[in-house]
Amino acid sequence: MATTLQRSSSAALFDKAQTLFPGGVNSPVRAFQSVGGTPLFMDRGQGAHIWDADGNEFIDFCCSWGPLILGHAHPAVVERVSATLANGTSFGTPTRLENELGELILSNHQYADRIRFVSSGTEAAMSAIRLARGVTGRDKIIKFDGCYHGHADALLVKAGSGLATLGTSSSAGVPEAYARETLVLPLNDLDALEQCVATYKDQIAVVAIEPIPANNGLLIQDPDFLREVRRICTREGILLLFDEVISGFRVGFEGAAGLYDIQPDVLAFGKIIGGGLPVGAYAASEEVMRHIAPTGPVYQAGTLSGNPVAMAAGVAQLSECLKPGFYEDLDRKAARLVDPVVAHAQAKGYSFNIFRRGSIFWLAFSDAVHIRRSDQIDPDSMAYFSKLHAALLERGVYLGPSGYEVGFVSAAHTDADLGRAAQAFTEALDVAFA
Ligand SMILES: *Cc1c(COP(=O)(O)O)cnc(C)c1O
Repeated sequence: MATTLQRSSSAALFDKAQTLFPGGVNSPVRAFQSVGGTPLFMDRGQGAHIWDADGNEFIDFCCSWGPLILGHAHPAVVERVSATLANGTSFGTPTRLENELGELILSNHQYADRIRFVSSGTEAAMSAIRLARGVTGRDKIIKFDGCYHGHADALLVKAGSGLATLGTSSSAGVPEAYARETLVLPLNDLDALEQCVATYKDQIAVVAIEPIPANNGLLIQDPDFLREVRRICTREGILLLFDEVISGFRVGFEGAAGLYDIQPDVLAFGKIIGGGLPVGAYAASEEVMRHIAPTGPVYQAGTLSGNPVAMAAGVAQLSECLKPGFYEDLDRKAARLVDPVVAHAQAKGYSFNIFRRGSIFWLAFSDAVHIRRSDQIDPDSMAYFSKLHAALLERGVYLGPSGYEVGFVSAAHTDADLGRAAQAFTEALDVAFA
């Protein structure tokens, strides 16, 4: 049943925040600009549930935008972090916890041999690009329209006008000279890729892709497309970067590389890897990673990189992910949420579908069977999302406040949570389509 949400404490906190931070937030999508209203300020989380400053309780499908695959305040994570914290938070020296997390990952991930920890996904992707340029001695990079790789200059670039592949910066403050080194192509289009590598023969260092693009809707790629991208990169001496900041440890411990059995040359990680603390990483073969300082000429460093508290959270979380049946269970849970909602929409004849890969899901206000490119998303459909989002909040379900963002099911969601949430989704859909 719907209730009118009490929001006065969140509204007061947001008023204050607007006197402190641009737009009242420390990351733009938190601002509720695309759905309207003021953001809810969260006070605490436990398992799949979160409570805001007004005491409203929600079943959470944002999960901090992906990191919280075990839900909030998982006992194993809390315990390990607390024990580590008591011994000091950072030394600026190597610690045994870095070895522990590094070994845990590399011994269970056959697509990576060496890893370097950083503190965010942005840093991971940015460093992976620099590494690829350093290894190949080439400057240009290819990325795809609809993929996000964090906010480094080279990657805040969108497709130019018309058929031009030369990128143009998608943010003020990014010099056009940098943007020109980034070539932007449509997803799922091999001809465009072939043409681009022919035009810029021997100038392209790396093709960067989210193998499961999940930052602009969920643009599930044809595995054959990914395999062909791999083949073209190998043929042209271009490194292939899989940005697995979302998909890594999410669709399986080995992420999309494991799911599709494709060996990228470089991998970027973030989100889940830090157990809810700020961790990113990039990984590759020993031969490629040797190019990084101090063994090689590509410079990259970090005062808090690999800090023990964050490493402890990662160890605790990833150890849970490695338990037998973990990902099968997560997949079953996600189906328990999604399937009844899609069935309801079909029965009602709504132009609506939920795309899902494992525990990542995306609400599409569309009849399309596949959506593989960002230009296949109708911006007008976002009006439905805004209504749905508001109706879900009133029914105790929290989704990230943008229709272009995906949702996540965590291991903490119980069958009861998922049943209740599915009921809320069906009611909210009826509201959105009324
Ligand atoms: C979230 C994300 C990033 C950026 O990670 P931050 O930790 O936010 O800097 C990069 N790439 C992908 C695919 C992401 O989803």
